Amino acid sequence: VKRKQRSTDEFVKGILSGDRTILAQAITLVESNAKRHEEEAQKVLNKILHHSGKSIRIGITGVPGAGKSTFIETFGTYLCEQGHRVAVLAVDPSSSVSGGSILGDKTRMESLARNRNAFIRPSPSGGTLGGVNRKTRETMLLCEAAGFDIILIETIGVGQSEIVVRSMVDIFLLLVLTGAGDELQGMKKGVMELADALLVNKADGDNKQKAKVACGEYNRILHYLQPSTKGWQSKAYTVSSLYQEGIDEIWKVILRFVEMTKTSGVFDERRNLQTKDWIYTMIKDHLVRSFFSNPTIKTSLPLLENKVVTGELSVTTAVKELISLYEKKL
Ligand code: GDP
Repeated sequence: VKRKQRSTDEFVKGILSGDRTILAQAITLVESNAKRHEEEAQKVLNKILHHSGKSIRIGITGVPGAGKSTFIETFGTYLCEQGHRVAVLAVDPSSSVSGGSILGDKTRMESLARNRNAFIRPSPSGGTLGGVNRKTRETMLLCEAAGFDIILIETIGVGQSEIVVRSMVDIFLLLVLTGAGDELQGMKKGVMELADALLVNKADGDNKQKAKVACGEYNRILHYLQPSTKGWQSKAYTVSSLYQEGIDEIWKVILRFVEMTKTSGVFDERRNLQTKDWIYTMIKDHLVRSFFSNPTIKTSLPLLENKVVTGELSVTTAVKELISLYEKKL
């Protein structure tokens, strides 16, 4: 049975009144690649925009097995108990490459999923990381307009996805394990430099003491790294997501971070910059797609490529020729 599409006003009213079914349908519109859906989604977004933004946006990353979903289940439930409304979103690079997904396939966060104050949306699948980026940002805006005051965005710490998530959140948390020396050696310094706090997870049972030692090690390293946020010293903390220990302290750290950055102006500065960067990213994505899907370019590119490889043409000349072909055929 074909359901009649809701009107823009129905979507807007539904979202603003916190109707989860309508919110979910609006997100489906945002995630759709059909032109008709995209246009409708944009109409809705433009109307809810000034109701968005009033949340704390928290990014969470860590290698598979670090305990991200267990942490989010525990932390999300804790926040709901404090009276917050929590939306959980994911950026999953594997879903854009393979169509399958590392984050989304298993049954995760079961008790949080049943919580009335929580809303969990699996990662949009298909398309490029750029597409996932847009969809996640717009979904976040819809969730904020629907009254979710905490947004948790999860990603696996591989490839570019942690940079994408860093570019859309206020504070970024990195979950790590105690693997001691090896883990410290193997960890990309770059990921640590993105983090505003490191959570040494699984600090329980026999592992508790090791976690404390690792925590000290991480703190020593963090001390020498470029801070992720101006005026904020990133530190490591031990938590047990499974036994719900240290969760309270992490929330206090986040509140301190928000207060400090709001007072210094860094909070708003970062958000404005993130929005502006989003404009440029989308323009670049659009131009790249438009260029490479242009029929003239599709036929000329391999020919010119060949001329460059065989030494008949310089790279600059070939590129200039391609660009002028593209601009003529616009
Ligand atoms: P993800 O891949 O990062 O989402 O990791 P999961 O949350 O699925 O956790 C991976 C495994 O570690 C699961 O078997 C969890 O039960 C376990 N785990 C997660 N957090 C903790 C913790 O705090 N303590 C202990 N002992 N195990 C944990």
